[in-house]
Amino acid sequence: MSGLEATGKSSANRPGRISREQALQLYREQSIHELGRMAFEACQQLHPEPYRTYAVDRNINYSNICTSYCTFCNFKAPPGDPAGYVLTYEQIGRKIEELAAIGGTQTLMQGGIVPIETLGLDWYLGLLRHIRTHWPTIHIHAFSPPEIWSLHGKTGLPLKDLLLRLQEAGLATIPGGGAEILVDRVRRKISPQKCTADQWLEVMRTAHAIGMRTTATMMFGHLETVCERIEHFDRIRQLQDETGGFTAFILWPFQPDSTPLGRVPRSDPSSGSEPDGERLHLASAHEYLKMLALARLYLDNVSNLQASWVTMGSKIGQLALFYGANDMGSVMMEENVVSSTGVTYRLDEAMIRRVIAEAGWQSAKRDCYYNIME
Ligand code: SF4
Repeated sequence: MSGLEATGKSSANRPGRISREQALQLYREQSIHELGRMAFEACQQLHPEPYRTYAVDRNINYSNICTSYCTFCNFKAPPGDPAGYVLTYEQIGRKIEELAAIGGTQTLMQGGIVPIETLGLDWYLGLLRHIRTHWPTIHIHAFSPPEIWSLHGKTGLPLKDLLLRLQEAGLATIPGGGAEILVDRVRRKISPQKCTADQWLEVMRTAHAIGMRTTATMMFGHLETVCERIEHFDRIRQLQDETGGFTAFILWPFQPDSTPLGRVPRSDPSSGSEPDGERLHLASAHEYLKMLALARLYLDNVSNLQASWVTMGSKIGQLALFYGANDMGSVMMEENVVSSTGVTYRLDEAMIRRVIAEAGWQSAKRDCYYNIME
C-alpha cells in the first residue's frame, strides 16, 4: 500500500491540525532540523515549564510463558518450554519491596499471553489485591491490551466487566504495550496471533470509559511503510479525540538482534529509500528523531511524549528533548523484554536527573498521571 487513501477516515477535522497527507509531506520534504524545530516549538507550547520529567518504577515481567509467536520477541517461552516461569506473589512482593526502598512509586507489570489453565483470572485478581494490601501507595500500571484481550476471550467476561474487576482489585492504569503498528497488514506479519488493531483500541476505549487512564506506544522500523506509521498516529489521535484517556505516547525502534524478524532481508540503508513494507527497514537514530518530531506534530491531543533512552541511549535521549519529547520515561530498576534482544542501556535516578540537567532543564519526578511529585 503506497498511499493514504486506503486507510479509512482521518482525524484531521480541527482547524490548524495536520492531516495524514500533510504528515507524509512533512516526512518526505522537511529536513530533520526543520521537523525538530517545529516539534520543539509544539512541545514548548504544551510544556513551557522549566523542567522535564521522569518517573521511578520497576518493570516486573510476572511470566514469560506465551502462546503468541511475535517474530520480534526473544522474551517468550512457549508452554512446556523449560525456560518458562511464573513469579510467585512472594517473589513479586520482594521486587516491590526493593522498589519502595529506593523511593519508587509505580510498577509496570506485563507478561506473555499465558494459557488460562496456567494463570486464571483469579491469579491476576489475587496478585493485584496482594500488592494493594501490602504496598497501598504503589501505583499498579499493568497488563497491556493483548493480555487483557486474551483474558476477555478466555474468561468470556465482557471487556467492561473484566476491566472493572481488575480495577476494583487494584489495577490503576494500563500500559500501551502490544500496539506495535496499529495496522493489521503489519500485525499479520509480525504478531499474527495477537489482538488486531481494532481490538487493541477497543481495550483502551473501554478502559478510558471506566475512568482508567492508559499510555499508547508504537514500535516501528520493521515491516511497515511510512503511511502505516502515520495511520498508527491517526488511530491514536482519533481515540484520544473520543476519550481523552491517553496520558502519553511512547515510540521506539525495533531492536533486531537475534530475533526471527531481524533475519528478514533488509533494505539498503545507503539507498535513502523509504520503508517499502516488505523488506526490513531498521530505524537509525536520525529516523527515530524524525518520527518523534512527527509524532509531536501529529498527536496534538496527547500531552506527553517520552524519550526512549532504553533503546536509544542517554545521548539520543537528551536530543529527543529537542525533538518533541517532554519526559525521560522511567528509571527502570528492572527491564527484561528489550534487554532480551541485547539492548542494555541503564540509568539510575541520579543519572537520569543529570542527563536532563545536561540537556539544559531542571528535572522533576512525576507520577503515572504526570503530576509533579518533587
Ligand atoms: S511480544 Fe508479548 S505476546 Fe508477543 S511473543 Fe513476546 S511475550 Fe508473547
